[in-house]
Amino acid sequence: MVVGQGKNVEYKWVFSEVLERNGMARYVGPQCRLCRREGEKLFLKGIRCDTVKCAVTKRKYPPGQFTWGRGKLSKYGTQFREKQKMKRFYGILESQFRNYFKKAERQKGNTGENMLAMLERRLDNVLYLLSFATSRQNARQCVRNGHITVNDKKVDIASFLVGVGDVIKAKSDETSQKAIRANFEMVKGRNVPAWIELKTDTMEGRVIQLPTRDDISANVQEQLIVELCSK
Ligand code: SF4
Repeated sequence: MVVGQGKNVEYKWVFSEVLERNGMARYVGPQCRLCRREGEKLFLKGIRCDTVKCAVTKRKYPPGQFTWGRGKLSKYGTQFREKQKMKRFYGILESQFRNYFKKAERQKGNTGENMLAMLERRLDNVLYLLSFATSRQNARQCVRNGHITVNDKKVDIASFLVGVGDVIKAKSDETSQKAIRANFEMVKGRNVPAWIELKTDTMEGRVIQLPTRDDISANVQEQLIVELCSK
């Protein structure tokens, strides 16, 4: 982000770069604009996304002026939009995305599927899937506020990757229990994918297997992203 003009501009730009590299930067602009740009619901705003107030339902065209003048996307444009969609869906920035890609490339198998599986295993995403948070952004807030434990140990890093056998639940103190229970009551009924198990009586989730492509709901063509990033 570059703010203002003059000699401070460079410092601010460097500062935002450092924040992003340390995983501390975040997008603070309008969320619905991101969905409208991708032309589909990315479920960034919790319960509002399932109501008639959803901006994608109300305004089925991209944000900004002169959107009618944009013609058919080029091959690069299509690949780029898929990448942006994936980043926006999981709420990650460019440098984090690059790191996931590098790790996925080093793993055996399909790079695109490896990357999706890693993103799906992020703690903030798992909380969202378990209905412990209204949105992925809300899930990141819950994690940062220290409301969540994995295997009875507090974890306050939203990008923490859960593994098979991990048990995810709210911390035992009253504030955390209340916060997670309130979120759950607001969004309960969300479909829990087959790779995690939700116990509603004890309000805990358990990872029973690693996610496969069929378990992942993200509507992205990961192969196009791999083609773009491999250039
Ligand atoms: Fe996207 Fe939700 Fe806004 Fe609809 S309400 S445009 S799904 S963030």
